[in-house]
Order: sequence, then structure tokens, then C-alpha cells
Amino acid sequence: MTESKKWIYMFEEVSAAEEYAGSWEGVRGLLGGKGSGLADMTRAGVPVPPGFTVTTEACNEFRKTGKFPEGQWDQELAALKVVEEQTGKEFGDAKNPLLVSCRSGAKFSMPGMMNTILNIGLNDEVVEGLSKLTGNPRFAWDSYRRLVEMFGTTVFNLDDETFEHPMAEYKAGKGYKLDTEMTAEDWKALVVSFKEVFKKHVGFDFPQDVNKQLELATKAVFESWMGKKAIDYRKATNISDDLGTAVNIVTMVFGNMGDDSGTGVAFTRNPSTGEKKMMGEYLLNAQGEDVVAGIRNADPIEHLGTRMPEAYNQFMDITAKLEKHYKDMQDVEFTIERGKLWMLQTRNGKRTAKSAIKIAVDMVNEGMISKDEAILRVTTDNVDTLLHPQFDEKALKEAEKNGTYLAKGVNASPGAAVGQIYFDADKAEKMAKEGKQDTIMVRPFTKPDDVHGMIASRGVLTSEGGATSHAAVVARQFGIPCVVGATAVKIDLEKRVMKVGDKVIQEGEWISVDGTTGRVYAGKMPTSAPSIEEQTELLTLLTWADEIAARPDIRVLPTGEKSRGLMVWANADYPKDARRARAYGAVGIGLCRTEHMFFETERLPIVQRMILAETVEERKIALDELLPSQRKDFDGLFEAMNGYPVIIRLIDPPLHEFMPDEEKLFEEVVTMRVLKQTEGLGAKEKLLNSIKAMHESNPMMGLRGVRLSIYMPQIVEMQVRAIFEAAADCTLRGIVVKPEIMIPLTGTVNELKWIQPRLVRIAKTVTEEKKISFSYKFGTMIEIPRAAVTAAEIAEYAEFFSFGTNDLTQMTFGYSRDDAERNFLVQYVAEGILPKNPFQTLDREGVGRLMQMSINDGRKTRPDLEVGICGEHGGDPDSIEWCHMIGNNYVSCSPFRVPIARLAAAHSALKYSGRKIAEDK
Ligand code: PEP
Ligand code: MG
Repeated sequence: MTESKKWIYMFEEVSAAEEYAGSWEGVRGLLGGKGSGLADMTRAGVPVPPGFTVTTEACNEFRKTGKFPEGQWDQELAALKVVEEQTGKEFGDAKNPLLVSCRSGAKFSMPGMMNTILNIGLNDEVVEGLSKLTGNPRFAWDSYRRLVEMFGTTVFNLDDETFEHPMAEYKAGKGYKLDTEMTAEDWKALVVSFKEVFKKHVGFDFPQDVNKQLELATKAVFESWMGKKAIDYRKATNISDDLGTAVNIVTMVFGNMGDDSGTGVAFTRNPSTGEKKMMGEYLLNAQGEDVVAGIRNADPIEHLGTRMPEAYNQFMDITAKLEKHYKDMQDVEFTIERGKLWMLQTRNGKRTAKSAIKIAVDMVNEGMISKDEAILRVTTDNVDTLLHPQFDEKALKEAEKNGTYLAKGVNASPGAAVGQIYFDADKAEKMAKEGKQDTIMVRPFTKPDDVHGMIASRGVLTSEGGATSHAAVVARQFGIPCVVGATAVKIDLEKRVMKVGDKVIQEGEWISVDGTTGRVYAGKMPTSAPSIEEQTELLTLLTWADEIAARPDIRVLPTGEKSRGLMVWANADYPKDARRARAYGAVGIGLCRTEHMFFETERLPIVQRMILAETVEERKIALDELLPSQRKDFDGLFEAMNGYPVIIRLIDPPLHEFMPDEEKLFEEVVTMRVLKQTEGLGAKEKLLNSIKAMHESNPMMGLRGVRLSIYMPQIVEMQVRAIFEAAADCTLRGIVVKPEIMIPLTGTVNELKWIQPRLVRIAKTVTEEKKISFSYKFGTMIEIPRAAVTAAEIAEYAEFFSFGTNDLTQMTFGYSRDDAERNFLVQYVAEGILPKNPFQTLDREGVGRLMQMSINDGRKTRPDLEVGICGEHGGDPDSIEWCHMIGNNYVSCSPFRVPIARLAAAHSALKYSGRKIAEDK
């Protein structure tokens, strides 16, 4: 007879399993997470109740044939004999019974999705024996009724109701409310009726043969792998159906054998704060599920030290060893049976963001893990969560139930905001500043002249627009929680109300906006807010992240030269944003959108006068008025970024954005005409005509960016003069300036050929006038596919490229960045036509390929071409990884996302350490 395959591994046989499976990962696949954990603990000398594991391979054979594979059952019985020897007890022997549990356990944890049966080995005879042996008949009969019940519900799939009903009736008959009121006699009586129920529904008696019990239980665990719950869970979590589950047969230990017994759960460090202190609970004379179910108030674990010092000291010793062994915080379950400690489970504990960061940093300081490991353990979501005020988890759950949940939109800028709603920027600002209220600005969408209202508000909600809409971009830049495109919210600006279904919320009422999830709630939800300066562990971790990304050999250029990883710069328009960017660790400004400076209340009229000027001279007069304030802006930026590069983008948006709203003005003119108000009417009509003349059907593809600079060069000439005068003044004050002038929306090199020399001439003139020199660059944004395709030519002029991936995505897909999300994009993602929203996560195959091509072609012309990204993708971890792979020098994002980007840059550096920059295919 050929020897059959090995289907069973005793917990002691972990080395044999390792040899067979080839790796620890393989052992986890073969024995499952729980089985491999129990075996590994056994090897480490931790007291684990004796037992063995039936492999996932046996499960997979069973699934094919519906039968145990050849040899499995014999091996299972033989393994049971070994357990009998190890425990000195006998399976089915009334005098000294061995009871076992039969527990599922797949490679990846699938909590509660598969079957587990406890107390196997009890029958009519054994229960009497157990009762005598323990002197605790109540415990023995309760255990037996649990077995009959579990057999019915898990092995034979009867409804829980089948047993709950007779039990409720029994308790009612006795006038009991709680299970704890049941006596031994009561449980014994219930066993009789449970067995009757079992027979009635299953068709035969509850099996008295303990081997039969074990056989049926093993089969039931195998079958539960293909149960609906398990299949659904695997689908949702991407676990393969082919893995199968292992079955762990473990000696039962009881924490309910009297006051020298107990059971508990604990974390080796605080899972919510990360504090290095055991946190856990235990109950004396109880079973595991009693602690979890909270039937009785559990005691803090420290108290065990006085109640059972020996077991407690052993427990502390073992858990410290487990933590060292797994090099991570452990979540353990234990039982003390008559003074003897047993460990039933250990696994890496789930934790909050705060705790994840503290534990990672502490473990490096304790010499347990490396800095690289610490960086890999913390996710960018952890950092994101930590830095934004969050709503209380419980309150969120409650809100879903109590009807305060209103609507869901695009989660445009994370964080929690609570405030009173106002439907226009002026009112939101007024109520915030003068009324000292927490406000939320609610608009269908926002425009540049709404920015003051947004900045003054705690949060922003729009019913239209997507992840790169104006509201989203500005909110992220300023770290304001924001939800956009919440289409279920109907805003009535006339009546000053917003409606969601039949719920009506008036101006001035409270709402809560969760920018992290995109959800909106009525009323005030409780929040908590952190600040980066207080996050000492996070600051330490990010310093390590910077060190990793700065390793000089982390990337290999196509030429074979070694290079560092990504730097993180920030998008900042004002000195105070730049200072914040520095505090968050940015080492450059990658985008200063100069037009935002034009929107300031006192400047806007001058800007409008400049736009409406009928002669160049008139325009120059207005621009001369603007120059000092622009110079002051830049001066502040350079000062805040002393020693670091500052990229200033010349004016980009179409001019109509600086003008009053055409529709509103039209209404005013009509009203004046009807009311025959002639004073000022002529001027208004003239203004209206000018605005009409500026109208474009497709303004995003119209007169903007470099086209506007060529059409009306005086504006950018003023801007360049202001930049260089400010840079010169700063230099004279001892500040190190590194200005980089960025020309937006280039589509052909001829545009640069036309405009750049004029601007360079101004730069030279100013530096000569001021008799000063400093280094500067002229470069361009790559936002148009044609620019990407002709990058080799563009790099003849541009000294740097910065990918404006908001526009580049818009132009490559041909999707409007302002409308797509509210129309078809959400459906595209839901239907799988697009894997993700390309305005949030860079489309590597299309937009990403264009970027890659630009870098390679551009650097062929200009090997030291500096390359960055300043679109919204610069703060998105997946997009940052792509930027690392294709050879960007830096990514630039909102100051609030800088910490996330620093961590993402380090993650990419570690993941692709030493790899060649992906060359164009
Ligand atoms: C871009 O297009 O990606 C960009 C940064 O410019 P803006 O968002 O200002 O158009
Ligand atoms: Mg752009």
C-alpha cells in the first residue's frame, strides 16, 4: 500500500510544514492563519492547548469529491491519539474526558464567516463524568447543551430560532430573565428538549459516538468555506475561492471551572493611543464569549496581577515574547483553567492611525524594527486620518440610523466640518468674521470670487462639480473639508434653503460635512482635531521618510547614473500658505497661482480696469498700479521659502473670470431700464457689452494660459518685473531666492519662442538695474497632449516641466474637469469602464504614458531638465508612485497633503529601490 499524503500536522510539526510548503507564507497557506499561529506559538514554547491542523489541501480535495481524501480520517484519529497522550485525557472516556473544538481558519482572516464547533466529545455519559470530575454539574450541562445547539445550527444549518425558541419558553416558564439564573437542573432539562428538537429537524438522534461528532464537525467546517457568507466576504475582499480553509482541532480549556479559572483578551500596546502598556480585560470563572458579549463587566487586566500573580506574570512574559517574535503589537486571547494559563490566539492587532504611527516609531527606538519597516507599516491613509479632524465613529453609525444622514457626494478634501450653512460667500464670510460663527458655505458650485467665503468657512458643500472643480482644488489647498457634486442636495438660492428629499434645511441651520467620506449630515456631529506640531511621532516618522527618498542611489536613470527619489513641494499662493508648507515639510513651491492674488477685494477693480482698457497705455497704467502689490506678494513668498525654489505661474485663467457675472449684470441693466433709472446705466451697459464680447463657448480651451500672454503681453510683463524686483530686494536682504517662472498651457514651442525671450529680457533688465545676480529658471507646464508629444522641442526653451495633470487629464480624455463627475464619470467608475476617477488618481496608461514620453524626450534635449507635477494628483499616493517610476524630481501638492506625499514618496522609494526609471516603451 502506498503511503497517503500528509493531511494533518500536529502543532509541534511546524518545521515539517515549513519544509513542505517552502516558506512561512506557504505554511500560512497550508495551515491557515490560525493553525500556523498556534503551531508557531507552540514552537516558541508558549503554552498552547495541544492540537493539530487538517490542511487546506484536504479541504480542497473534499470540495472536489465531497469526501475526505484518502488517509485523512485515519490520520485525524491518529493525531487525536497523540493529543490524548499529551493531555493524559481520553476522547469519549467519561472518567477523564478529552473535549476538543473544531475551528475553521483560512490563510486570510475571515472573521465569523465560517464554522467553529466547541465542546466536541460530550455525550450522555461523558457529561455525567465531566460533572463529577469538575464537581460543577452546571458547567457540564451548560457545555453539553451548547454542543447540541451548535451541532444543530452549524453542522446541520438549522435556524438559530430552532433552539432559541424552546430556550426562551423554558426561561419564561421559570420566570428567568438571564442565562445566569439557570441552574444545573435547568440546563439538564433543556438538553433533553434540545435533543428532541435536533431529532425532529435533522431526522436522527444527536450522535453519541464522539468520533462521529468529530467527523461531522470537520466536514461542516470544510463545507462552510463554500457557504454564502464566506463566498460574499471573499468577493468583497478579493480572497481567492481556491485557497480553502484549514480545520484546527484544539483541546478545550475552560475558564469557567471556578474562581481559579478565567478568560480574557488583550492588546500588548494600547490600540487607540499606541502607549506601550498592555491593555485588556478578563473575567474570572467565565468563557471567552462572555468577555466579548459583555454579559458581565470585565476587569482590567492589571487586576489579574493581584488575583493570580503567577498566571499574570507568565502572561506578561509570554506576550512580551510574542511581540518580539512577531515584531508587532499583538492581539491575544487566553484562558486560565484551574490556575494554568493557555494562549488561544495571537495576531497583529488592529489599531487607529495615531496608534499605528506611535507603535512604528517606538518599535524603531526599541531596536525591534528598522526605519524602513516602520515607514512601510504606516499607510498614507493613517497620516491623512491623523491630520484632519474626524467625526466620532459612534456618532456616524448612529446618524445612519437616526435619519440625520443626508447625502453623499465626491470626497474632495478630507476632514470633518460642522457649521451653520450660508448660500453665498459674502454671507458666509460675514457670519464667520462678524458673527463669530462656524460656517459652512453651500453653493451649487464655486468660482474664484467665492474664495473669501470658503476660507472663512469650516467646510464647503457643493451640489455640482468634481474632484478637480474649483471648490475642490481651493478647499484642498486650504485644508478645508469639502464635499462636491452632492447631487441629491437641491439648493434654492432664492428661498435660501437646501432640500434633500423631503428634508428642508434653512440658511443658518447646522450641518456636518465629512470630506473624508463625502457624506453630509444634518445637525452637529462631535469631532476631534489634531495639529502637526503636536504629532511628535509623526514628525519623526516623516523625517525618516525624507531620508529614504533622499538616498542617492534609490533610482537609476536611463543613462545608468544613480539618482535620489522624489522631493515634495507644495502648491501655495500666499506667504502664509508657504509658511504652512514649510511647517509640513515641503522643500519648494511647485505652483503659485498668481491669479488668486488678483481676486483680492481692493485689487479686483484695478484688474477689471486693466482688462477693459481700450489702449495699451491705459492698460499699462492699471498694471503699474497692480505691480507694487504683486511685488509684495512675491517678496513674502521668497522670504518664507528662503533657500528653496519657488515656481510662480504667470496668469492662466480666461479674463472673464475676473469680471462680474454676465447674467447678474444683465438682470441689473434690464431692471434699471424698466425702472427708468438712467444714472449709471450707460456704464453698466458698456460693461455688459464688453463682457459679452469676451464670451467664449469653450473658455477652458479658449483665450487663457500662454495664449492670453501673447494676446495681451503687458500682464505677464508686469508679473515678471514684480517677481524679479521682489527677488532682487530679498537678495539684498540676505534671503536666498530661487525663482522659477512658469508659463502655463503651452501647446507648441513657437509660443515659448514668442513670449519667453521678452520675459527673459525683463529679468535681465531688473537684475542689471539692481546690480544683483541670483539663479532663476524659465519653464512651462505640460497640460496639453501636443506639448507632451513635442516635449523634445519644448525642452529647447523650457528649463523645467511641471505636469498640470488637471488640464492634461481633461484634454487627454476630452472630459470637462468641471462637469464630468456630476454627469457620467461616477457611472463610468461604477460600471468599471474606468477603474478610478482619473481626476483623482492618475490614469497611468493614457495621461501617465504622455508624461513618461515627455520626460524621456525632454531629457534627451536637456539632460538636467527639472520635472514636477502640480495638478491635484501630486498629493495622491498612487499617482506619486507613478511620478517616482517615470523620473519626476518632485511632486507638488496642497500644504496639508505634504505629509502624505512625503510618506508616499518613501513608500515608492522602498518599493522600487534601486530600480531603473521606467523608460518609454
Ligand atoms: C493643472 O491643470 O493641473 C494645474 C495645476 O493648473 P490649474 O488647476 O490651475 O488649471
Ligand atoms: Mg491648468
